[in-house]
Amino acid sequence: MRIAPFTYRSRAIDVRFGRDQAAEHVLDYVDTHEARRILVVATRSQLATADRLTAALSGHVVARFVDVVEHVPAATAEAARRVAADMRADLVLSIGGGSTTGTAKAIALTARLPILAVPTTLAGSEMTDTWGITTDGRKLTGKDPAVLPRAVVYDPALLDRLPEQLAVTSAFNAMAHCVEAFWGPGANPLSSIIAAEGVRQLANGLRTMRSSLPGVVDQLQYGSFLAGLVFADAGSGLHHKICHALGGAFDLSHAGTHTVVLPQVLRFNAPAVPETATALAGALGVDDAVDGLFELIAATGAPRSLSELGMPANDLPIAVDVVAEKLPIDNPREVTRGSLEQLLAAAYHGEDPR
Ligand code: NAD
Repeated sequence: MRIAPFTYRSRAIDVRFGRDQAAEHVLDYVDTHEARRILVVATRSQLATADRLTAALSGHVVARFVDVVEHVPAATAEAARRVAADMRADLVLSIGGGSTTGTAKAIALTARLPILAVPTTLAGSEMTDTWGITTDGRKLTGKDPAVLPRAVVYDPALLDRLPEQLAVTSAFNAMAHCVEAFWGPGANPLSSIIAAEGVRQLANGLRTMRSSLPGVVDQLQYGSFLAGLVFADAGSGLHHKICHALGGAFDLSHAGTHTVVLPQVLRFNAPAVPETATALAGALGVDDAVDGLFELIAATGAPRSLSELGMPANDLPIAVDVVAEKLPIDNPREVTRGSLEQLLAAAYHGEDPR
């Protein structure tokens, strides 16, 4: 059998995974790397967690930045950079979801400071060298090795009290990284194996989550680690481009947007990638990937339409315009303005793709 040509690059990142071990791992990183002026980035709701995790850092925390805003508006990036510069920070410790990690990345992008990331959702940003900053409703994204955290500390106990709706949508955000990794521009044989395992862990966790989040969150967070890893490798395609454009333009929940858009993109692409559809169905443990994904979303009670996320109907043509700005999009099936109109209308109404 011939192996199709591929490129694989590994990234230097120190990952530690362990329930109830975050404080110990953070302390170890700070001691080993002799960080002495730490800027903690966290949302207000995660501040108590941040204080607990940094209690043993013997006064090395010089500032806390808590004004985190989803999709990292340019003004927020500027404010966070100013604090880092004024306090002469030598490490950015981000403790929170993708918005918090994104704010830390905005600092690192210009200040070239190292990031230690402690994720508290399943977004997966901590494993990637992708940054995103929103200016006037347009989310600009880019890649820069400087924003890849030097180390990531996963502690599932920090997610035990994640609100159920966010746990579900965040898990589908991670699932989207895995699904798109099958056809992303950097897809390679290894990324497909990791993506399939990520889907398996996330789907199993989501199916049993109703009984108790703490009982399945270890599995979900392990799945989100694989998802972030594989997203960094395979890169983003049609699905992520739609979600970034919509999130920046309409300030929609990032995780919710991924949940709503993913089955519609999979339905659109599945006929063009039959092997991927089969691999995905196997990982989901179903006969048909599109049906199985939609059934899983329905079973978890997650939002199914952009209208449920709060997007007004008259914004639909604007949504088509902002996504169409990204054409041509590297995708296994050609994407035209017409196909975007259909896909986004289906996502807006939460059309059952089965
Ligand atoms: P988020 O970080 O905005 O968090 C959502 C809410 O949940 C916030 O109010 C936060 O305070 C709260 N929260 C976080 N952790 C919690 C916990 N453990 N318990 C209770 N509440 C908690 O949402 P998100 O979905 O994690 O991140 C979305 C952002 O991440 C978007 O801006 C998106 O573009 C970015 N992102 C980037 C990448 C990348 O590779 N660059 C990947 C994924 C997501």
